[in-house]
Amino acid sequence: MNDAWAATVLTLFPEMFPGPLGLSLAGRALASGVWKLDAVDIRDFATDRHRTVDGTPSGGGPGMVMRADVVAAAVDAMHSAAKPLIYLSPRGKRLTQARVRALAEGPGVTLLCGRFEGLDERVIEARAMEEVSLGDFVLSGGEPAALALLDAVVRLLPGVMGAAASGEEESFESGLLEYPHYTRPQVFEGREIPEVLTSGDHARVARWRREEAERLTRERRPDLWEKFQKDGRKSD
Ligand code: SAH
Repeated sequence: MNDAWAATVLTLFPEMFPGPLGLSLAGRALASGVWKLDAVDIRDFATDRHRTVDGTPSGGGPGMVMRADVVAAAVDAMHSAAKPLIYLSPRGKRLTQARVRALAEGPGVTLLCGRFEGLDERVIEARAMEEVSLGDFVLSGGEPAALALLDAVVRLLPGVMGAAASGEEESFESGLLEYPHYTRPQVFEGREIPEVLTSGDHARVARWRREEAERLTRERRPDLWEKFQKDGRKSD
């Protein structure tokens, strides 16, 4: 058997892990050994008596900055070069489903969670870190971003999702947003389930879902719609 997909998280708050990833789908997969999680306390790599991990910003200004030497020591001790080294950062490249899938297909990942104002720039450069952002907003630390990234990856690992196919029709996988879902009751506050979905005609259902996916994408995400059309409708 292959080694389990392995995540190493470098953080000042290791007790935040596995957190929500210890429950439900990801938690069961963690317990059964489909993936492994090692949360490492960056503070263990501080060298002074007070275990200092941060300093005041050079040039002045508010807040504190994580020290390059301490972060580098943590990376050098815990990171294996066979894996991507990602610093969660609002300045990073936006996380996409394609990046998530590529991570799931690899051996694992090392995630570095910032706190305070972020990291000393020199360690980002010196360890050639890939900066990845969750979106255009600012968290108080990288930990929630690391949890979100891992959640997205783990559900794609072989054997984690119940129906293997259910990953493929989802939002972004085909370049489109997903079609709307319905379930019982047949009538909810006067609203009926679209007739086609109870017709039993599988071809009609497929056509309707496809049209809805295209309509939603066009209306809500013109950027995705444009890309979808340019990419030659790769799901066809
Ligand atoms: N001063 C920084 C923000 C620091 S927020 C700036 O303006 O760019 C503290 C930490 O939270 C960061 O080091 C990063 O690890 C994490 N973080 C904040 N927002 C994030 C986002 N959108 N995506 C990923 N990580 C984020």
